[in-house]
Amino acid sequence: MSAINLAIVGVGKIVNDQHLPSIARNPDFKLVATASRNGTVEGIDAYKTIDAMLEAVPAIDAVSLCMPPQFRYEAAHKALAAGKHVFLEKPPGATLSEVADLEATAAAKRLSLFASWHSRYAPAVEAAKAFLAATRITSVQVNWKEDVRHWHPNQAWIWQAGGLGVFDPGINALSIVTHILPRAAFLTSATLEFPENCDAPIAADLQFKDADNLPVHAVFDWRQTGKQTWDIVAETEAGTMVLSEGGAKLSVNGELKFAEPEQEYAQLYCRFAEIIKVGQSDVDLSPLRHVADAFLLGKRKIVEAFYD
Ligand code: NAP
Repeated sequence: MSAINLAIVGVGKIVNDQHLPSIARNPDFKLVATASRNGTVEGIDAYKTIDAMLEAVPAIDAVSLCMPPQFRYEAAHKALAAGKHVFLEKPPGATLSEVADLEATAAAKRLSLFASWHSRYAPAVEAAKAFLAATRITSVQVNWKEDVRHWHPNQAWIWQAGGLGVFDPGINALSIVTHILPRAAFLTSATLEFPENCDAPIAADLQFKDADNLPVHAVFDWRQTGKQTWDIVAETEAGTMVLSEGGAKLSVNGELKFAEPEQEYAQLYCRFAEIIKVGQSDVDLSPLRHVADAFLLGKRKIVEAFYD
C-alpha cells in the first residue's frame, strides 16, 4: 500500500513538538498539506482554512485535527464529509454528543475515526495493566499536579468553557486509569476549583469507586511549582505499584520494574495507520465521560483569579 497522504489542521505547540517528528519517521504517512490561520510547516503546502485545503488538495486521504477541542467538531465533520480518515487530538471534542455524531458519520461513510489518547501509549502503561490484572487492588491514588504557567503559557482557550482547564492534563491520567484498571470505575463525588475570572477549573478533587467498591481518588492541580507530579499509585496484595512520570516508569515496593524511552506519538501514528488499513475506528470516550461526570456532579468552589 502506498503512503497515506496526510494533512494537519491547527499547527501549534503539539504539532511542532510531537506530530511532525512522528509523521516524518513513519513511512505509512506522507504530510502533504496544512490548514492553519497562522501556523505553517516548512516545505508543505499551507492553507488558511480546512475548506480551502480540502478543495485544493483532493489527494488528501487523512487529516490530523490538532486545534483546541472547542473547534474540532466542525473540522472533523468537514473532513469526514469529504471522505477523509480523521485523527482527533485529545480530548476528542468539547462534548460527548458531538464525538458520538462523528463516530456515527465515520461508520456510515466507512472511514476511520481515531480518538487518540497519547498517555495510553506511555512506556510503562501496558506493564502496569498486566501487573494489576494479576493481583487484587485495594486502593488507587492519582496525583496529577503541574505548573500551568510553565506548560500552557498564553493558551486562552484552555481557560474558556470547553477548554477543560486542569482536566486538559487530568484527562491524560484518566485515559491511563480507564485502560489499566480491570473494572470500570465511576465518579461518586468531586470538588472543582474555578478561578473567579475563568470558565474552567484550576484544580479538581475526584472520588470514584467501581462495582466492587474499589476506592479511586484523583487530585489534579495546576498550581504546583517545583517538582511536577504525574503519578498513579495502586495499593495491591502484591505491593505498592507506582506508575510515575505520566506513565513512563513503573515501580513496585520502590523497585523499578519498567522504564523505556517515550514514543507516545510514534505509536499513535502506528495505530492510526493500522485502523485505516483494517477499516476500523478507535473511539473510547470513557476518559471524556469521567470529565463530563465531574462537571455534572462536582461541587464548585470559586478561588482567586488566575493571570498568566
Ligand atoms: P495551541 O498551540 O494553543 O493550539 C494549536 C493550534 O490550534 C494553534 O496554534 C492555532 O493555530 C489553532 N487554534 C487555536 N485557536 C483556534 C481557534 N479558535 N480556531 C481554530 N484554530 C485555533 O494548543 P496545543 O498545545 O497544540 O494543543 C492542541 C490540542 O492538542 C489540545 O487539545 C491539547 O489538549 C492537545 N495536546 C497538547 C499537548 C501539549 O503539550 N501542548 C500535548 C498533548 C495533546 P492557528 O492560529 O494557526 O490557526
